[in-house]
Amino acid sequence: MTMPGKTEGKGRPGSGLSSPPASPGLHHPGHRPGVPTAVRLAGVSRRYEIGGGTVYALRDVDLEIDEGEFVVVLGPSGSGKTTLLNMIGALDVASGGTISVAGQELTGASRAELSRLRRNTVAFIFQTFNLFPTLTALENVQVAVEITDHAGGARATAEAALAEVGLADRRLHYPAELSGGEQQRVAIARALATGNPILVADEPTGDLDYHTGVQVLDILQQQSRAGHTVIVVTHNREISRIADRVIELSSGHVVSDGPPAGGRADVADLRW
Ligand code: ADP
Ligand code: MG
Repeated sequence: MTMPGKTEGKGRPGSGLSSPPASPGLHHPGHRPGVPTAVRLAGVSRRYEIGGGTVYALRDVDLEIDEGEFVVVLGPSGSGKTTLLNMIGALDVASGGTISVAGQELTGASRAELSRLRRNTVAFIFQTFNLFPTLTALENVQVAVEITDHAGGARATAEAALAEVGLADRRLHYPAELSGGEQQRVAIARALATGNPILVADEPTGDLDYHTGVQVLDILQQQSRAGHTVIVVTHNREISRIADRVIELSSGHVVSDGPPAGGRADVADLRW
């Protein structure tokens, strides 16, 4: 479903973006001609100088992600997955290379431009949910809508988003009164309610059991079908089977990029 107030006058999420078409130089399997690019990284590195040595969290990463793609970033702990998401969400700054998100060049962007991108373009879902404990489910979602620039009817939008994740009847509960899976669904509702076209999820099922993890993945997959760009980070190879495209990281490098090995699976077929 589409939520009231979310995409009014804009068609599907992301269609209002004015990003240029994919550039021919960057590796991008499965790119469909004419579909705008949501995320582009060229030669991106992130270095840390520690104790006289240099650690590369990301090294020379080139990639493009189309609007509406459902991408899983797969890699072991320490491979650079969170660093990559933080770059895309403008929560961290590259040491080298260039990044553009929804047509906005991040390198050299002003603080105000980066802040606008964080509020209006990218929505984060975290492994540990990160809900405010003293706010109800509804209030947690509503505050996220209120800080965007497309707020308007924040309460109605928040209620619709909670209904979309199947939590209408839990909206007045506090996080401590909800199961882990329900808390993560509130966090997803919070991301959806912003109307931001790019959803990024960092190990969203890492703290959930199999059953609730599958529910969460199902919601994320539905969002990609509704036109969102969805980027899910995981160390769990099984989860990558439901993606359109799997980008595998190892020691800060992209080591493979393409459709899931063995073909795409339904969420219901996953086992872990
Ligand atoms: P992942 O999410 O795949 O587990 P991260 O992106 O968190 O990996 O980290 C990638 C690498 O960068 C790791 O080796 C990690 O130790 C290093 N790293 C991340 N943040 C910092 C930091 N603030 N200082 C030093 N090293 C860091
Ligand atoms: Mg991580």
